[in-house]
Amino acid sequence: MRPAVSAAPARFNVRMLAIRAERLFDGVDAAPVTRPVVLVEEGRVTEVLSEAEPPNGARVVDLGDATLLPGLVDPHVHLVFDASTDPVGHLAAMDDDAALAVMRANARLALSAGITTVRDLGDRDYLALRLRAELAADPTAGPRVLAAGPPLTTGRGHCWFLGGEVVGGVEAVRAAVRERAERGVDVIKLMATGGELTPGSSSHVPQFTVEELRAAVEEAHRHGLPTAAHAHGAAGIANAVAAGVDNIEHGTFLTADGAEADPVIIRAIVDAGIPVGISVPQKPSPGALPSPGIVKRLPFIIAVFRELRAAGIPLVCGSDAGIGPVKPFDALPYGPAMMASMLGMAPVEVLRSVTSLAAEVCRVGDRKGRVAAGFDADLLAVAGDPLQDPAALTAVRAVFRAGVRVR
Ligand SMILES: [Zn+2]
Repeated sequence: MRPAVSAAPARFNVRMLAIRAERLFDGVDAAPVTRPVVLVEEGRVTEVLSEAEPPNGARVVDLGDATLLPGLVDPHVHLVFDASTDPVGHLAAMDDDAALAVMRANARLALSAGITTVRDLGDRDYLALRLRAELAADPTAGPRVLAAGPPLTTGRGHCWFLGGEVVGGVEAVRAAVRERAERGVDVIKLMATGGELTPGSSSHVPQFTVEELRAAVEEAHRHGLPTAAHAHGAAGIANAVAAGVDNIEHGTFLTADGAEADPVIIRAIVDAGIPVGISVPQKPSPGALPSPGIVKRLPFIIAVFRELRAAGIPLVCGSDAGIGPVKPFDALPYGPAMMASMLGMAPVEVLRSVTSLAAEVCRVGDRKGRVAAGFDADLLAVAGDPLQDPAALTAVRAVFRAGVRVR
């Protein structure tokens, strides 16, 4: 015999969840929804009410004096890295199973901070695709994962140790993109310059020719995939723009000892309509410092970011989580307040940069980054009002993933 299960009253819609709060930022609108009731069924938002009572029979979660907003979207993470002082060395010492265990923990940490979508811009052995499949089967165990696989880089170029070295010119680049497309990646990541994490590579020095980058973009687009280019120095940024990449990551205009914006290249970015992901988020933690190369150049980098913003370039906030101790997987929510204070951006602008705008850049803007009918019920609730003070994003009160409360 089956165990007895008490039936719900007939009018009780057990499938409907009604989430109440004091105010709601929908991902776009600067004016909050007051006294919202967000109705959720089967993992999706079905309706957003204001100043109304929940429908009869719905299961009500009342969050009290809290602000509801879309679950955050982090467009730039590296789940295989452990956010220690030596993420590269630690990864090298791990087999794939051990690395996957680290990735699962990283994903859980991100979700607990209200980050419900992450775009992994560089793994080893396509491990982020394995994690993507696991979390698709159990969404409560982590964010929605979008993955690039091993980033394309030049011989011993930035992050070569992740396995994405491409030598042999344009045809080799096309083959590398095809391999990733066949594996089912969501985006192609291109290392257009060197980076801080890789000894022997320099952030201000370009990698790949324009022809190689263009071949990668063409092949990616042929497979319906967007491209994201890691680019610090001006020459690499200019190459990426000329190649037609869909999104530039970093965009710092680093030089050997500082950073200096180039108005001509900035104009080209504007004309091409390319959003730039600025990886400003840092989680303050005692004794943890960002890379000395970046600290020294920070005032110059901030000046560059101000010029990008003044030119009207959409700025997305990505954490680059995993690459160091100030970049744990719950670092993203610290970014918007930093952007507001460093760049003078309005709270609504910085909130969009981690919700609706980030979702668009990640090509999931039809399901993520907004609280509206038809969107996934990935939600964050925080104490206080982030539309007044974005620092409120770190005061987490609740997290929902696909309509299920996970915190
Ligand atoms: Zn990165």
